[in-house]
Amino acid sequence: MLEILEKLCNGEASEYDIYRLEKLAVNIKKASVCGLGQSAPNPVLSTLRYFREEFKEHAIEKKCRTNECKKIAKIEIDPEKCKACGLCQRNCPVEAIEGEAREKRVINQEKCIKCGTCIASCPFQAIG
Ligand code: SF4
Ligand code: SF4
Repeated sequence: MLEILEKLCNGEASEYDIYRLEKLAVNIKKASVCGLGQSAPNPVLSTLRYFREEFKEHAIEKKCRTNECKKIAKIEIDPEKCKACGLCQRNCPVEAIEGEAREKRVINQEKCIKCGTCIASCPFQAIG
């Protein structure tokens, strides 16, 4: 189950892996003799129950809404909200934010290490 969850987080899983994950969780619950085995799959089963769409997004679109899965996270600047203040650019530790003074900034996805610093530094909530 852990291997499948890691595949999902890394953008390497398919929709079939979600089926396998659920099947495994149910079978582990049924087949376990001890209480630990019977309850260990519960977090996976309840997240599948309430967040199945997000599991599918990870498997099919390779997308993580919260950007917690660093390998598939995509942090972007909303050009509608950006006021070109440059704060994010000054705070980025790897100089991944591009744009000249008074220009709206853009994140270079090749350089971005998904640290999240720019999200916290933007006073206009333009990054997510
Ligand atoms: S901090 Fe926000 S408003 Fe300022 S340049 Fe960056 S994205 Fe634009
Ligand atoms: S997430 Fe981190 S590395 Fe990526 S652009 Fe923002 S500050 Fe730079």
